[in-house]
Amino acid sequence: MTASENWRPGRRVAIVGAGPSGVSAGLALLKRGFDVRIYERNPAPKPLGGVVLLSVPVLAVLRDYGIDINDFGSFTVTEFRNHKGKLRARLPFNSLIEQSFGIKGWYYGMLRSNAFAKMMALLPVGTLISNRDFERYEDTGSDVTLHFKGGGGDQTDILIGADGVRSKVSVQAFGEPDLFHVGLRVWLAWCDAEKVPDLPRNMGNITHSRHIQASYFPMLHDGKPGFEWWIVEPVAEHTPEPICVKSHVQGLLANWAQPLPRFPEVTDFDRQIFCWDIYNRPSLSTWSSGRVVCLGDAVHPVSPYAAYGMGMAIEDGYFLGRALAGVDLTDSNAVQQGFAGFEQDRVAYVNHHVEFARKLGNVFHQMPAPLAVVRDWVFDRTPLLSKMISKDYLADQEAMSLSLKELHVR
Ligand SMILES: Cc1cc2nc3c(=O)[nH]c(=O)nc-3n(C[C@H](O)[C@H](O)[C@H](O)COP(=O)(O)OP(=O)(O)OC[C@H]3O[C@@H](n4cnc5c(N)ncnc54)[C@H](O)[C@@H]3O)c2cc1C
Repeated sequence: MTASENWRPGRRVAIVGAGPSGVSAGLALLKRGFDVRIYERNPAPKPLGGVVLLSVPVLAVLRDYGIDINDFGSFTVTEFRNHKGKLRARLPFNSLIEQSFGIKGWYYGMLRSNAFAKMMALLPVGTLISNRDFERYEDTGSDVTLHFKGGGGDQTDILIGADGVRSKVSVQAFGEPDLFHVGLRVWLAWCDAEKVPDLPRNMGNITHSRHIQASYFPMLHDGKPGFEWWIVEPVAEHTPEPICVKSHVQGLLANWAQPLPRFPEVTDFDRQIFCWDIYNRPSLSTWSSGRVVCLGDAVHPVSPYAAYGMGMAIEDGYFLGRALAGVDLTDSNAVQQGFAGFEQDRVAYVNHHVEFARKLGNVFHQMPAPLAVVRDWVFDRTPLLSKMISKDYLADQEAMSLSLKELHVR
């Protein structure tokens, strides 16, 4: 019998979407003895291209699922600088967290497809059901019926919507998302470390000019060292991509201190660069409705300024598994309580990060010229940026990390 044939009333969890949030929820719930089916509309899950940064608590979750995190990603010291190279802030490490999880530093860079492949490899055969394009559901109060495009369906005790920024589950549960373009697009690229042999292998830099961000981080791809580099530029929605991407990004980096202008020279523009326009939605105050709950980008798409969208999606799955541990899914009250516990852990926390990332995007890219001059003067000469990062970005991630005692090694 394959995993998906095991389908016992009271234990049935259907997940729509095999991205990081859906697969994480699947792994967390399988671990707690639930029967899981993950429905994916594509023939095989296709992780977004390029590279991802994952933080220490996310690595601890992945380790708990059974992933070997040795050589998983590249350890990095993160600095913020202006485009001429002046240091503005260094991301601090919290030694208590390093000791608690037994993982040093904070960010690790890796090829997104590598990280995702390791998660997929843990799913028992049959859990993933491909080529099922979810259309709608009916929640009777005691179970949920799913309907797929082209016919066919399934019955489940609970439904998890993990179907990304344009989630159909979320639209049915909470209404249209009112997605809006945040006025930014991201060029995300990578190259082999041997192409820039003189660069230190454990330093990452996030640098800003008046309206553009250009950054690089060490990473591992298939276990080999490399560097990801990316550019965030302000653009209006529907701005067409340039005909020659290479000369466009070289133009954006024209005034930058080294090493950033070197990266386009050593990157394969047919294979190693991806472009995204960034959309957000107004924050939701609840992620569940009846027997349906949503996770990840389906309820909280996030600007890359957080460097935490995939991380939060993975954490969502873990927290949902924890909140539903031991719940008999035929018991509607117990299901509601489980969902409420999950939401209590996650909704305000995640909304804060999404909103702070959007604010940082506005501060760095949308400020009118005279104010941007003042901003740069302040960031270049005072510890304000460092304080913002510690207070608004790291403080509650650290508190959350310290509360995850079951993932600590000491
Ligand atoms: C440029 C860029 C850089 C980023 N960098 C980082 C980073 O450094 N660190 C980080 O943590 N995050 C980063 N993120 C964010 C991260 O990629 C997302 O937050 C994450 O992929 C969300 O995962 P998800 O599973 O919720 O959704 P998705 O990854 O979108 O997965 C949704 C899945 O659902 C499937 N699906 C959709 N509709 C249906 C349907 N109707 N029926 C069945 N299946 C369906 C899709 O095919 C897909 O497989 C970045 C994002 C961007 C755009």
